[in-house]
Amino acid sequence: MPILVDVELARCTGCSHCKDVCPVNVFDLRPRDMFTDLVDDPTVGAKFQFRGEKSLSLNGPECIVCEACLYECEGECILITDDEGHVHRSVYK
Ligand code: SF4
Ligand code: SF4
Repeated sequence: MPILVDVELARCTGCSHCKDVCPVNVFDLRPRDMFTDLVDDPTVGAKFQFRGEKSLSLNGPECIVCEACLYECEGECILITDDEGHVHRSVYK
């Protein structure tokens, strides 16, 4: 089965850490204004600043499950389902 990489956008702070660390360019950021109906999660906002962008998973099947992004994600909003169906959740370091 193909690897799935999901980002829970309401929790994404736009910190860009995922894009910066991913060796296979799974992620790319888009302007926050594109997501007009989205409400940012206040529990994340209490800890981190929301920037003007959101991260999208554009190349999930390319993921090698190195887990680098999972420990760099401020919003703890990345969810990876690997090719054996195991789920990997982000926990900010
Ligand atoms: S786990 Fe996948 S999406 Fe995350 S940094 Fe590694 S290759 Fe990229
Ligand atoms: S690391 Fe997490 S919070 Fe930061 S831009 Fe990527 S998905 Fe969003």
